[in-house]
Amino acid sequence: MAENLISVEDARAAILERMTLTPTESVPFAEALGRPLAEAAVTDIPLAPFASSAMDGYAVHAADLAGASPEHPVTLNVVGHAAAGDVFDGPIEAGQAIRIMTGALVPEATDAVVKFEIVDVASGDGNEGSRVTFTSPAAVGDNIREPGLEAPEGAIVLDAGEIVTSAACGLLASAGATEVTVHAKPRVGVFSLGSELVSPTERPARGQIRDANSSDLLAAVAEAGAEPVFCGLLPDDADLIRAAVLKAAAECDFVVTSGGASAGDYDYVTSVVAEEGEVFFDRVAMRPGKSQTFGMLGGTPFVGLAGNPAAAAGGFEMLVRPALRKMMGLTELDRPVQRARLATAQKKKQPRRYYLRGRIDRLPDGTLMATPASNQNSALFGTLARANCLIVIPTEASVLQAGAEVACVRIDLPEGSVL
Ligand code: AMP
Ligand code: MG
Repeated sequence: MAENLISVEDARAAILERMTLTPTESVPFAEALGRPLAEAAVTDIPLAPFASSAMDGYAVHAADLAGASPEHPVTLNVVGHAAAGDVFDGPIEAGQAIRIMTGALVPEATDAVVKFEIVDVASGDGNEGSRVTFTSPAAVGDNIREPGLEAPEGAIVLDAGEIVTSAACGLLASAGATEVTVHAKPRVGVFSLGSELVSPTERPARGQIRDANSSDLLAAVAEAGAEPVFCGLLPDDADLIRAAVLKAAAECDFVVTSGGASAGDYDYVTSVVAEEGEVFFDRVAMRPGKSQTFGMLGGTPFVGLAGNPAAAAGGFEMLVRPALRKMMGLTELDRPVQRARLATAQKKKQPRRYYLRGRIDRLPDGTLMATPASNQNSALFGTLARANCLIVIPTEASVLQAGAEVACVRIDLPEGSVL
């Protein structure tokens, strides 16, 4: 039977061009962690809100200290104090200073802060009523954080498209932007298809296996920043698959199945989607993961992943994860790719791109070495669980010698990482 394989790039493009942004929602900024803002966040106060001391010390008139030196020290009278949170409103005349702590409002009458370490207490305990001596001049503005240092009132502190990081949560908190607007997390319905499957909580009978893929895929959906929705296990029964997939398509923003996607006697999902919606491709020139279907059911994207665990996970990584990211407004859709030396020679038979599960390591001499797991059987999960990269063996290549340069997709690093 002639095969109609499309390249991974064309498959991704076919999916991505059909992805639309989810509707926007307003959420507490903590829930926006890792998501890009859909609308800019502004501050309702200047940041910083007032002139504050950057040091523990004395707030002074810089003019009083002009010409101060060890030979010609200047002594000032301490007339008050200001801790963080205090507002000192009293007069501060020429020749006077107040004791001030980091974060305290700097009284308007003063224009510089001199840190404790370079001030001598000539009499008293350093508080009101004491006299303090300075042996160097101060410049206007010394050790004062100006109001609006970071942003004036009403300014954008985090723009549309910028991702909410932990530090951004701090910035939004300072700005009083406690609610922010983001694109909703796509709800991703996940099914496992196969009459041999039982729940992980059960001990499989003869001929059965535990459903491993949905546990992987639900976690991968969450890792991608979307909302996983487990839709259950389905036997290889066209009518049951039809009803369940249509229901999920109506309730979710994206539907992912694994298993039953190839051309075996009991593989129904591709024909169900073709009958109920539209299928854009059902074979991808990758290994593992040849039998992968992409279609639309009404307005809901559908990806039918191959059943072998490594194929399902690889297909999710290459085809579904970028799609979910695009739906949330993320623009970095590609994992970083690093070049490395292949540790062991590789032969390949089929004209497809191979993605070998493996690890990239830096040798003591600085060389980056890509070591494929010794067993690339796509039924194995452990090699994938321990992999930090997918080593790309190009479609055209049939033999690659040890030491050949290969591209490694860093599945352990966020999209947009600079290597
Ligand atoms: P299929 O794509 O349905 O032909 O399945 C290919 C292989 O993957 C078969 O050995 C299935 O038993 C296995 N498989 C399918 N679905 C799962 C699953 N959810 N968890 C673990 N293995 C699966
Ligand atoms: Mg099957």
